[in-house]
Amino acid sequence: MKTVRVAVVGAGVVGFSTAICIAEALPICSVTLLAEKFSPDTTSDVAAGMVLAEVFPDIPLERQRRWFKNGFDHLLDIAQSEHAPEAGVMLSSGCQIFKEVPAEMKPFWSDTVIGFRNMTDRELKRFPNHKFGQAFTTLKCECSTYLPWLEKRFRKAGGRVEQRKVNSLHELSNNFDIIVNCTGVGSRTLVGDNQVHPIRGQVLKMEAPWLKHFIRDGDGMSYIYPGIHSVTVGGTRQVGDSRLQADEGDSKSILERCSKLEPSLRRAKVLHEPVGLRPGRRSPRVEKELVELKGRQVPVVHNYGHGGWGVSFAWGTALDALGLVRQCLHEMPLQAKL
Ligand code: FAD
Repeated sequence: MKTVRVAVVGAGVVGFSTAICIAEALPICSVTLLAEKFSPDTTSDVAAGMVLAEVFPDIPLERQRRWFKNGFDHLLDIAQSEHAPEAGVMLSSGCQIFKEVPAEMKPFWSDTVIGFRNMTDRELKRFPNHKFGQAFTTLKCECSTYLPWLEKRFRKAGGRVEQRKVNSLHELSNNFDIIVNCTGVGSRTLVGDNQVHPIRGQVLKMEAPWLKHFIRDGDGMSYIYPGIHSVTVGGTRQVGDSRLQADEGDSKSILERCSKLEPSLRRAKVLHEPVGLRPGRRSPRVEKELVELKGRQVPVVHNYGHGGWGVSFAWGTALDALGLVRQCLHEMPLQAKL
């Protein structure tokens, strides 16, 4: 059988996860990953990297549960292996607290994380403005370490990597049989999807090695996530804002909010103030379509629009994208396979 040439566009956590799933599972494919920006310059590098989730309105809950579980189990295997430090993946215990009791007291991912339970009154006492809380152990995936590790794994599976901006899918039609689009917020221009929009997120990387437990306000606006080298303290969610430089007012507001939850942060040093643009969309787009490129029908598999939860869902949606590439192979005209 002839080799099937697959282009994966995007070098964030979604692109590399997808490229690996295809390269490792489908030896008939030669996979090339193309991207304008690589680590440390992607949104994924800025992600706090906590494996948590919120509900996407247009995706059946069962599918989201599967995405989350596949992502969690994949990262848990790494966290519990000798590769953990090199891959930047660790277990992380802590709590999510709420000012009002949430409608959904048991989120869909509660059976997947470890030891999920409601907090006791005694535990909640230190948060006088919060009425309800959940304690559990999840994972933290530090993408500035994880992405280079994924790249190595991809190259080991025979994958090729090329730094290049793709201005139009037409540019790829001569050299590739299947295109996989993992361009995050770039999909707005690359495939003209106006549903995709930037959601600006600024965080502080702080030196506070005494902090070992995460705290997340259930409103998603304030969080303290201890990591391997620093503590990620956030955040902002500015819809439609694509400024990539740090904003002094945002840093001040983050510190003020988070010091109320963890007063010792007032003694911690700010190391960096990274900013990233989440690929906002009502729900991620994980589907295939046939696109006419230079007179030829080319299968395009989309995997983008993960919003604030791309690290949690990357491996799960990558496995779905792999399934879609498999379908494309079955549907390809016979002469293309010979
Ligand atoms: P990206 O990382 O943006 O990668 C897109 C890739 O496509 C890049 O390589 C880019 O160069 C390439 N590209 C785009 N257009 C083109 C083109 N035309 N030609 C060639 N290449 C192109 N998620 C979690 O799960 N947990 C968290 O705790 C978490 N915290 C976050 C905190 C902050 C402050 C931010 C900003 C995000 C956070 N996220 C979190 C969300 C997460 O970062 C994103 O969902 C995820 O990084 C999206 O990954 P991606 O691969 O789709 O996009």
